Amino acid sequence: MNRIIHKECPLCNSTSTKKRFACKDHFASGETFDIYECNGCGFVFTQGVPDEAEIGRYYESPDYVSHSNTDKGMLNKLFHLVRSIMLRRKVSLVKKLTLLRNGKLLDYGAGTGYFADSMQRAGWRVTAIEKSSAAREQAKELFGIELLPEEALAAQPDGKYNVVTLWHVMEHIQQLDNFWQHLYRILDDSGIAIVAVPNCASYDAEFYGEHWAAYDTPRHLWHFTSSTMAKIADKHNFILERRYPMPFDGFYISMLSERYKGRKLATLRGLWNGFLGWIASFDKCGASSSIIYVFRKRR
Ligand SMILES: [Zn+2]
Repeated sequence: MNRIIHKECPLCNSTSTKKRFACKDHFASGETFDIYECNGCGFVFTQGVPDEAEIGRYYESPDYVSHSNTDKGMLNKLFHLVRSIMLRRKVSLVKKLTLLRNGKLLDYGAGTGYFADSMQRAGWRVTAIEKSSAAREQAKELFGIELLPEEALAAQPDGKYNVVTLWHVMEHIQQLDNFWQHLYRILDDSGIAIVAVPNCASYDAEFYGEHWAAYDTPRHLWHFTSSTMAKIADKHNFILERRYPMPFDGFYISMLSERYKGRKLATLRGLWNGFLGWIASFDKCGASSSIIYVFRKRR
């Protein structure tokens, strides 16, 4: 197996890094992966992930709720309810931030096309890119939308988009610097990137430690905080303009974390901790389980 070992910090290139702890892959393989942290900039990343040719099989499990449309089980039911609320919130966020009624949007990592469909219905011209061919087929069946494979990113014209969105996608992207370079290139001068990712400095991340479900190794390669997100933006000539908490994610992640720990009453305990995290995020966005970041190109 080919594993990717980072001898330097992928963000600041410091050679001074340390192991935080090891996380078990509860979703697919049962294997254990180390979580590392840079002593220089604080960037947190998964060490020893399988390379692009091999990571595919770590996405294969019937439980993968992000790509599932069955209504079985309480977690799935909740997921579908939250998805419809979040879709409405995402569409209104794009309109509010751009002050555009319609514009050009690229959704990168579009999954089965729910958000792309919502934006199209709202009158936007949407291009959607998705790595998984199974998800692309499903998007076509569900919404009649033609999603493009990931190679299509490099073919997108310079300055084309008003908005690029990544909803829980950036933590999966192996060529991170290369991706940010394309992001800068394809956005127009007043364009924005909206990036939602788990927050490994959140209330629930601190509470669950190595059992925090959103470490999700080896699928999640990078584990962001507000501080490291601002540094990545700066490295690629963007400014971090705004942040918004994502309060619902903490409920789901906490329930999953309790389940991974094998606790009794996992759902109830998870809901309670999700609630505490939600309260904590009221006056401190940095406590939120996931965060939506808004980036603008530096002029
Ligand atoms: Zn670093």
